[in-house]
Amino acid sequence: MPQKFQNFINGQWVDAKSGKTSANRNPANWDDIVGLFPKSGKEDIDEAVKAARATYEKWRLMPAPARGDILRKIGDLLVKNKEDIAHEMTREMGKVLDETRGDVQEGIDTAYYAATEGRRLFGHTVPSELPNKFAMAIRVPIGVAGIITPWNFPMAIPTWGIFPAILSGNTVVFKPASDTPKTATTLVQIMMEAGIPEGVVNLVHGAGGEVGNAIVTHPDVDMILFTGSSEIGKQISRDASATLKRVSLELGGKNAQIVMDDADLELALDGVLWGAFGTTGQRCTATSRLILHENVYEKFMEMLVERTKRLKLGDGLHPTIDVGPCINEAQRRIVQSYVEIGKNEGAQLVCGGAIANQGDLAKGWFYEPTIFGNVKPTMRIAQEEIFGPVLSVIRTTSFEEAIGILNGTIYGLSSSLYTRDVNRAFAAIRDIQAGITYINVPTIGAEAHLPFGGVKQTGNGHREGGWAVYDFFTEWKSVYIDYSGRLQRAQIDNY
Ligand code: NAP
Repeated sequence: MPQKFQNFINGQWVDAKSGKTSANRNPANWDDIVGLFPKSGKEDIDEAVKAARATYEKWRLMPAPARGDILRKIGDLLVKNKEDIAHEMTREMGKVLDETRGDVQEGIDTAYYAATEGRRLFGHTVPSELPNKFAMAIRVPIGVAGIITPWNFPMAIPTWGIFPAILSGNTVVFKPASDTPKTATTLVQIMMEAGIPEGVVNLVHGAGGEVGNAIVTHPDVDMILFTGSSEIGKQISRDASATLKRVSLELGGKNAQIVMDDADLELALDGVLWGAFGTTGQRCTATSRLILHENVYEKFMEMLVERTKRLKLGDGLHPTIDVGPCINEAQRRIVQSYVEIGKNEGAQLVCGGAIANQGDLAKGWFYEPTIFGNVKPTMRIAQEEIFGPVLSVIRTTSFEEAIGILNGTIYGLSSSLYTRDVNRAFAAIRDIQAGITYINVPTIGAEAHLPFGGVKQTGNGHREGGWAVYDFFTEWKSVYIDYSGRLQRAQIDNY
């Protein structure tokens, strides 16, 4: 009988009020049930928000360095449990062990960063325009934060939201993706073990359309940090507007790597393989377009196809495996449908292009690493996020044209340029429309202490990560203290 898990509300593990559960399965072997998780609804969210609101009044008064001390303990516990969590995460969502270890490490980095931020949370002191008057701006917490996360980074992304939220003095209602409830449960267990008081973090499992929507529309939730698809992000933006919540959206991407004819081709090859097929292409920062200079096109394509054919598909728990499964049946169907679209658009299928279901792969959602050549920049496979192991290769004749192609989508998350020309590198940094630009590095590999996010329809201008996320989770309060003993009117008495 599979293990049954619960929601965590006001310090108690509880069933959904509906009493219903749904099974979460291993995407590399659908006979393997990871657990049964609550199918919650609006009434469970009401309870969680009530707890978070009541606790906020105490939690906001705890000194930030003391909150930071708890974050440090969370980091320590994540270090201690890193290997177990990585195994559990690979079983739950399929990416290979090295990558799930990296996912936990990102949570550890975020915890330690937050711990030290407790001793910063800098404000500003500025001179007043009047004598005997003091002026400063300080950060204050906001209230209850709804954190809604995707499945592709089941530890890292929740920590990017929850840790800065609570360090800043807010309380949290957390809804993880339906495909990764187990890793979310482990994260909450670790936070409790580290000493987070009851009610500060509340976990509610369930479907996005129901549980997620109940958080977004709840009048007593002050802000939403959402990481997921652009389609749902736009819907959340509309749904949250009725209560004028603060909303941070980190959404999809159609990231490109440019390889110029002066690049180190071996280095660029390692980069594109990792960027396109790491996490089975299921990263918001995945390299889904390769923009290749015509002078090296044939040679590089030959190298790329040869290496791609050697990638080993399978269960990510085995150390020899390079690429795991798609997350679920629906996602594999989307990948398959884009491959058909690419063929119908006239792109040249040079590698892969089929479901992989032979032998050990029979019970998983595997898809062959796939490459299309001679892709035109306007084709759908060059414009739309596929979120799977599919790379579209576009030929270019010049650096300027390559930058134009890279910028020619509605998205603007990550970008990469391989060149040995320092002048071009700096021109690219200036001209590329993206939140992240890598030079001689693939499009994936963000570090936890730098701002993370995108421009155009990848988001709405906020940033996760580093110091920037604290701007989202705090409000500025300006404070004036007049010690002159008389009424001094700004702009009037001094001019
Ligand atoms: P998704 O379908 O948009 O779901 C994200 C989260 O939103 C899940 O927890 C989902 O719940 C929930 N949700 C669904 N409908 C909702 C609604 N109407 N109201 C509120 N919440 C709702 O995305 P995904 O498939 O999990 O993840 C893949 C996408 O995330 C890709 O587009 C990828 O590019 C993007 N992503 C972006 C970043 C970034 O930082 N820019 C990082 C990682 C991933 P259920 O799971 O129950 O449906």
